[in-house]
Amino acid sequence: PYDVLIVGGGPAGAASAVYAARKGVRTGVVAERFGGQVLDTLAIENFISVKETEGPKFAAALEEHVKAYDVDIMNVQRAEALVPGSKLIEVKLANGGTLKSKSVILSTGARWREVNVPGEREYRNHGVAYCPHCDGPLFKGKRVSVIGGGNSGVEAAIDLAGIVQHVTLLEFAPELRADAILQRKLYSLPNVTVVTQAQTTEITGDGQKVNGISYKDRQSGEQHHIELEGVFVQIGLVPNTEWLKGTIALSKHGEIEVDARGQTSIPGVFAAGDVTTVPYKQIVIAAGDGAKAALSAFDYLIRSSVE
Ligand code: FAD
Repeated sequence: PYDVLIVGGGPAGAASAVYAARKGVRTGVVAERFGGQVLDTLAIENFISVKETEGPKFAAALEEHVKAYDVDIMNVQRAEALVPGSKLIEVKLANGGTLKSKSVILSTGARWREVNVPGEREYRNHGVAYCPHCDGPLFKGKRVSVIGGGNSGVEAAIDLAGIVQHVTLLEFAPELRADAILQRKLYSLPNVTVVTQAQTTEITGDGQKVNGISYKDRQSGEQHHIELEGVFVQIGLVPNTEWLKGTIALSKHGEIEVDARGQTSIPGVFAAGDVTTVPYKQIVIAAGDGAKAALSAFDYLIRSSVE
């Protein structure tokens, strides 16, 4: 069995692997796609000490760093179930195999919910963005739209309004769902337009990048088109925890509940990164979280009598 088995190979899982391996304990990483979300990222400019890099390059560097240690990397393997036990914890894989470990770190990340309209996939990273903290500065002085009027959409619109020329917030429902205090702030901004009852129908582009957004007024049925350079989709971040439902304590958003040390509701099982309740989903935060979970797992191992 492993001492530390990590499920997920994004920044959180990679950091856990390096920290665990450096303790000299038997470490394994199972990942559906080693690298995680950064594989889908174009420019990364906020990982401190790295002024600028690209997602795939960053992912390759994660892998290289993990491979510098004695870590079993099991890539393109999906975990389907976690089975806690009194001595060993089992992780069942989609390929039928079972891995056993004295401690487990869950770092399966999250994914942005998509609007599923024409243009969204085509122009992803070419005007379609999901993370205002990451990509906001790319749209300095330009016109953007934010899809979604919940807390994250309204926070994004407020944040972007300070950087871009103009923000149009599109909300599907008749009213915004964000907290009243955020709405007050939003409506106080001169360069923000809010459109409710707006069903996004298409993100348009010139073949290279986004040049507009089309929506239907759900009340009148009229079609509208706005010319702009960027679209931020803010309709939710979904944690990859479907396979853990009923096994471990999850928040109402489906995130794994962790304490300050990354401990979950199951002894010996820790979690790190976007899959957890940690606020702010960012690479630098996930990596720090992964380090923390590995140190907690090591602490657990030296205190438990499992042989
Ligand atoms: P993830 O990166 O999501 O990794 C999860 C890992 O778990 C993957 O290896 C995945 O394959 C694996 N996995 C999932 N389910 C299973 C399963 N059942 N079995 C086995 N493996 C599984 N952040 C920044 O700080 N700066 C940026 O500029 C930035 N830009 C971004 C741009 C885009 C387009 C996106 C999508 C995100 C961006 N982010 C950025 C956010 C950042 O990528 C995440 O916060 C970070 O990757 C989270 O790391 P993680 O390790 O927690 O999860």
